[in-house]
Amino acid sequence: MFAEVISIGDELTSGQRLDTNSQWLSERLGELGIRVLFHTTVGDELDANVEVFRVAMQRTDAVVATGGLGPTADDLTRQAIAKAFGRELRLDQDVLKHIRQRFSSSGRSMPEQNQVQAMFPAGCHVIPNPHGTAPGIDLTVSRDGRSASRLFALPGVPAEMRELWTATVQPELQQSMFGPMKVICHHRIKCFGVGESHLEAMLPDLVRRGRRPSVGITVHKATITLRITADGQTRDEALAQMEPTMSIIHQKLGKLVFGEEDDELEHAVARLLCERNQTLATAESGTRGLLADWLGTVPNFKKHYRGGLVVADSSTLSAKRRDQSQVAASIDLCSESAARQMAKMARAEFEADYGLAVSDFPDHDDDSGQFHLALASTSGVESVARRFAGHPEMLRERSAKQALDLLRLTLLAK
Ligand code: AMP
Ligand code: MG
Repeated sequence: MFAEVISIGDELTSGQRLDTNSQWLSERLGELGIRVLFHTTVGDELDANVEVFRVAMQRTDAVVATGGLGPTADDLTRQAIAKAFGRELRLDQDVLKHIRQRFSSSGRSMPEQNQVQAMFPAGCHVIPNPHGTAPGIDLTVSRDGRSASRLFALPGVPAEMRELWTATVQPELQQSMFGPMKVICHHRIKCFGVGESHLEAMLPDLVRRGRRPSVGITVHKATITLRITADGQTRDEALAQMEPTMSIIHQKLGKLVFGEEDDELEHAVARLLCERNQTLATAESGTRGLLADWLGTVPNFKKHYRGGLVVADSSTLSAKRRDQSQVAASIDLCSESAARQMAKMARAEFEADYGLAVSDFPDHDDDSGQFHLALASTSGVESVARRFAGHPEMLRERSAKQALDLLRLTLLAK
């Protein structure tokens, strides 16, 4: 089943307001297992709206539109739907009564132009809107030689849109796709350490289109998420269907898997340190405190994360060394020795079991440039060089994650 999401309004096409409805609706449709093929954004122009609705209902099986259901002259959705599918607009007395009541309960009389919100294309169902004046439209349109397509038009106000979706549209779509009582479950497995295509190649049968349960891959700032979707008559049945797929993933990916659902790498590291009752301190140059930020906000981890240093200038390191009566010339903060010193310094300063460090980053136009990660522990200092090939803006987050992964893999190997 394919879907299209349509957003209507000059405020969207002019760039004055960001279209957040499409994002939200697409996520919800995806959770139902419905693939969104098109996002269309259209201004408040009748003929353009008519064309958009006609095209969408031909090319997809479900269309969800938001906006243009208000009472003003630029709200044209109901007229556009009526014109696109040759339906007359008819007054719904029950809806009109509801709108009048909403006005009178706040001590006002209904302005004449609000009557248009009680007009609906013939043959549609009204989607009730308990907290607004604009109800939604639910219209099924037949197609030659194919199953009918279903259109839901909802108000643009995000809170009302979400309410109508949850109360009416989602159950209707679920019913029409799966019949009554089907339950859909999702589970996310989080991975780090290889590229997306490499990981996909390790799971050739799982990511095949049309497989059930389905497995989708997305990557966000180097963290790869595998999303498993299964359905069943009950939640337990859907979860049981997922089990074999989950164990294949764990078996094939091994230590590349660091967690599930909302886990990030810092949560995985925190779990391992808590299990071992060990402590961590950090020293960062290039990542400028990102590790401290992430680790410092993991719940119930304060006793294990002792603290972090941000090293902005190499004189900090030299001064530290002089204190310890070790003579030091100026140090290149991008160097391996800087990372190693920082790791030792963090470990000593905070009296932690582990000191984790990220060196500074080389200039972005230096293609051969490397930065270094280092981990100090009772067994000495280990360091690794990393080259960064992606966009400079990604460097901070990616290298902080690489540092956490170095610690994670070290802890797992113990
Ligand atoms: P409308 O239903 O067209 O009268 O829209 C009402 C209000 O909802 C607009 O003024 C916008 O502030 C907001 N809105 C409409 N469409 C969207 C959208 N796609 N994403 C976010 N906000 C929206
Ligand atoms: Mg509008």
